[in-house]
Amino acid sequence: MKYAAPPYMYDVLPAAPPKESWLHTAKWRYVEGVFREVCCRYGYREIRTPILEQTDLFKRSIGEATDIVSKEMFTFTREGSERSLTMKPEGTAPVVRACIQHSLFAENPLLKLYYIGQNFRYERGQKGRYRQHQQLGIEAFGSDDPAIDAEVITLAMEFYRALGISEMDLHINSVGTATTRPLYKEALRDFVRPFLSELSAEGQRRFELNPLRMLDTKDKNDLRLLEAAPHMTDYLDDECREHFLQLQTYLTALGVPYFVDPTLVRGFDYYTKTAFEIKGRNLGSQDALGGGGRYDGLVEECGGSPTPGIGFGLGMERCLITLETLGIELPVPSESPLAFIIMLGEESVVKPAAVKLLGSLRSAGIAAEMDYRGRNFKKQLKRADELGASYTLLLGDEEAARKVVAIRSQATKEQREVPIGDAAAALLAL
Ligand code: AMP
Repeated sequence: MKYAAPPYMYDVLPAAPPKESWLHTAKWRYVEGVFREVCCRYGYREIRTPILEQTDLFKRSIGEATDIVSKEMFTFTREGSERSLTMKPEGTAPVVRACIQHSLFAENPLLKLYYIGQNFRYERGQKGRYRQHQQLGIEAFGSDDPAIDAEVITLAMEFYRALGISEMDLHINSVGTATTRPLYKEALRDFVRPFLSELSAEGQRRFELNPLRMLDTKDKNDLRLLEAAPHMTDYLDDECREHFLQLQTYLTALGVPYFVDPTLVRGFDYYTKTAFEIKGRNLGSQDALGGGGRYDGLVEECGGSPTPGIGFGLGMERCLITLETLGIELPVPSESPLAFIIMLGEESVVKPAAVKLLGSLRSAGIAAEMDYRGRNFKKQLKRADELGASYTLLLGDEEAARKVVAIRSQATKEQREVPIGDAAAALLAL
């Protein structure tokens, strides 16, 4: 019996695998670190929520008619329990739930949070689209000022820039509100009705269930048919229109270039006013690096007091794939040990001293290693080189008896002897 990771889920490994070098834990840590740093600079604080939530939370917030809720959730009920649980398919609703549960909105009228979390969606997998994926996200609650929309979008762009990615385009749109959207939905249906039968099966399904989503298609024929469809921005009320114009003013002031994209719609029902997506230019069909938008009705929908909010989710995998495609080398810190202890001679004498030395180096904050396999000098040295150790510490019977150790630079081969008790200090001084 051979086991493998579930389809379209992957392992991230301690060393870069040859074909997909982005599946390397050091790169993940680095990118997460950049994200944390940028969030901190913009005043966002971290929140972590469980992987599981009550299924109803997602049904209510994301919307029953969306692809995610209607066909992609990992949902189950434990034997003996009535309660249906779902592995989170997105990060925003759980954050809203947690903030309501812990009265964070009441305590912080303006609340800015970030998270790094795993999402689960039963999707048709391909490169850049997995059934488990990680998102880097932020949420800003408590203001409907378009300047905070501009801040949220700028933070995302700044994150990519900090990684050296500039091959991307920002698309923005306004999707109106629950009051203005029905007008537009009807206008869109009226436009499509005469050629409805020519639309793809998925397009026809969306016509009934969620007409805005007809616009979010990659089907070439559908795109052609929808080319002259009415634009959402023509159906905005004055408030939404003004909000959208101000957002553009602030983005311009911040020096963030953008495209107004009237066909941009997002996969969840909860968005209001601002919607945006950052598209990578090197990603092929799965080109959305990340996206987000405003969700002024969501907190109330989840049982809280009316609280405006805006946020985004950026796909970790697509970010790393983009870095790989662009050939951007991340300055990941070395994981090599500074010191490697090599034992020579009578094991019963040398080994206790070596083990003690190893412990003392590590306690002093030095990354140190030894070979536990009782192998000869040459093989231990080879292991030190494989690990990329900067110094080897040679400890034989005679050294152990004199309580000294020889420190040897692997680069220059220079060697000097120090008392065992001084080894850590000597290495730190180097
Ligand atoms: P969404 O939550 O659907 O708005 O997605 C936000 C971002 O997460 C997207 O732009 C992608 O970068 C990423 N993403 C969404 N779904 C997947 C998936 N199945 N596999 C990999 N990345 C994804």
